[in-house]
Amino acid sequence: MQCEDDLDLIDTHCHLDQDIFSVRLPRVLEAARQAGVRRFVVPGVHPGDWGRMAAIARSHDGIFPAFGIHPMHADLADGATLSQLAVLAPGAVAIGEIGLDPTYPIRLEAQEYAFREQLRLALALGLPVLLHCRRAFQRTLHILGEENADRVGGIMHAFSGSVEMALEFIRLGFAISISGTVTWPNALRPAKLALELPLESLVLETDAPDMTPHPFRGQPNQPAYLACVLGSVALIRGMHPQEVARQTTRNAVTILSI
Ligand SMILES: [Zn+2]
Repeated sequence: MQCEDDLDLIDTHCHLDQDIFSVRLPRVLEAARQAGVRRFVVPGVHPGDWGRMAAIARSHDGIFPAFGIHPMHADLADGATLSQLAVLAPGAVAIGEIGLDPTYPIRLEAQEYAFREQLRLALALGLPVLLHCRRAFQRTLHILGEENADRVGGIMHAFSGSVEMALEFIRLGFAISISGTVTWPNALRPAKLALELPLESLVLETDAPDMTPHPFRGQPNQPAYLACVLGSVALIRGMHPQEVARQTTRNAVTILSI
């Protein structure tokens, strides 16, 4: 990876608390900085991960946790866990990742309950939310509307819907996050989003260790590869990477107050 001293990128979604990073984390962060990635948003997935997320944020510069319960663990969103979240969340940059995903074998009622409770907490604390949504975009929009989520807004992570659907989320105050899928040859939908959505509504993410961009597919993903996502978005839009970097970083800073 080229040294990009002038870039100041934010990886708005990377799971640096996961086991695969552990002892490699200092090297992974150094490689990212060499690639111009200086800030890292680490979203919560399982309540059991929150302690480690807080710990890595304390011991490394530039790591910002966003505590939350992923829809795949929505059945864990009981009173005690939600109270624990309410205690931790004021030290976070967002609540996340939360949302709906019927591709997981968790009852949709449980997912909706966890989603709404975490949205209400975000609103009470004035924190933005990081959304995870697959194949339930209309229902997600409906709940965001009912819960007045436009008052806090946030980021729709690794968005896989249409341009029209993306514009609905943008209207509700959400940025659309472009991930490594935009670099995959033949992935037309992410390229269309990167081309047609307003740059003021885009942010970048790796979702490391998943969704590794081309040409590193087959290896675990890491934040240094955000440069590949940036390169693809710039190429697709016919812009200089620096220009895309500046605006997408500004967008992330505005949403997350980091
Ligand atoms: Zn994620």
